[in-house]
Amino acid sequence: MRLSQLAAFVFSLIFIAMAVQAQQQPGPGAQPLASPTPTPAPLPPPTVKIDAYRGAAARIIGAALTSDRAYSRLAHLTDTIGNRLSGSQNLERGIEWAVAEMKRDGLDNVRAEKVMVPHWVRGEESLEMLTPVPRKLQVLGLGNSIGTPAEGISAEAIVVRNFAELDRLGEQVRGKIVVYNAPYTNYGATVVYRLQGASRAARYGAVAALVRSITPVSLQTPHTGAMNYDPNQPKIPVAAVTIEVAEFLQRMNDRGERPTLRLKMEAKFLPDAESANVIAELKGSEKPDEVIVIGGHFDSWDVGQGAHDDGGGCIVAWETVRLLKELGLRPRRTIRVVLYTNEENGLRGGNAYRDAHKAEIAKHILAIESDSGVYRPEGFGLAATAPSQARANMLEIAKLLSGIGADQIASDGGGADIGPITREGVIGASLDVDGTHYFDIHHTPADTLDKVNPRELALCVATMAVMAYTVADMPESFGGK
Ligand SMILES: [Zn+2]
Repeated sequence: MRLSQLAAFVFSLIFIAMAVQAQQQPGPGAQPLASPTPTPAPLPPPTVKIDAYRGAAARIIGAALTSDRAYSRLAHLTDTIGNRLSGSQNLERGIEWAVAEMKRDGLDNVRAEKVMVPHWVRGEESLEMLTPVPRKLQVLGLGNSIGTPAEGISAEAIVVRNFAELDRLGEQVRGKIVVYNAPYTNYGATVVYRLQGASRAARYGAVAALVRSITPVSLQTPHTGAMNYDPNQPKIPVAAVTIEVAEFLQRMNDRGERPTLRLKMEAKFLPDAESANVIAELKGSEKPDEVIVIGGHFDSWDVGQGAHDDGGGCIVAWETVRLLKELGLRPRRTIRVVLYTNEENGLRGGNAYRDAHKAEIAKHILAIESDSGVYRPEGFGLAATAPSQARANMLEIAKLLSGIGADQIASDGGGADIGPITREGVIGASLDVDGTHYFDIHHTPADTLDKVNPRELALCVATMAVMAYTVADMPESFGGK
């Protein structure tokens, strides 16, 4: 999931609302109306002195770009262990492997912190058109969906482009399968059909729902992802279809044809399973109780290999501390890697981390999440709520990354797994990468290792390591407290 994009969307709505409000207030005298874009407050001067870190940054970047450890570990995780849905044996095998390897790396305080996770299983699934022409259609159930009866659900399909069309049809969808054919605009705006589509159709009596995959492009690639049921509506099964299938059904719908579909899904929940957040540290030399936490989510969907989402993000955080240790760069504060479990369909790992570390939350200096794929890094997104001193320091430290083009600090950032601790006041940030192709393969059978460029992965490691090391080592306070 990309919470940061959702957050950016929400923030943009807030800014628009603020701008509208500003325009409604009477302007001062005959002066023109204020620009709707709020002028950012000037930043204080940075307190970090980056000249002291140029040598370390050069060594880190050189080492990251000449090591194949990150890629070879990601290859083991994706090829030998495979995808890692919560509750699966693969995920637990992956956790055991990571703990053993981190100990072999000589990292500090390596441990698995137990987390109970939901255990959703997909089972077999299929979608067929029965009339007017029998045809098999590609389908991929949405995570957390219920299944269908064994004989499937057979009903007429009715296609809508958005919720407004659904609401206009209202009771006309009773007994039918609602197909949402909402074209992708951006992730945050389009993912609502995946999250809410089933319950909003069930409200009018629909018996199942199909959602056009949340993606800008498709080569018959269906995208799964989590959905949520509104507790006040009946639960109906819901699955993703490809753009090709959604457009095919739309064309039939627009010609007045009323195809009959049969959806079969075995999806169900088993009892909660035991899993864990994996933790390893590079213990600080002077202020070991002050923590910079970096990480990604170790679980993935049950299709593809979870290579970009988010095996790569986990490996970037892990390799950051392994590389610093290898280089003998032990910072003043502790850098802690967390490989969170169950981000995709529950967020139990992120919540469990907050609960298990409540007593030391105030000592968390910064939390960085890498969950946007491991493409060419552009820099970081720093939470809009971050103190201006933190922003000034991050912008300054990012200058150490200008040589590899990763020196941008975006006006907002964060992540799903660090959400629980950032809501407790920890400064949050995301590793930002070139997102041009992330949503082409996100949550699909095509999220596999061949989509990962080894050099771009190494650049992500370099970017994360330079930022984490400098924040952890700078003698001054990062956030200005
Ligand atoms: Zn993810």
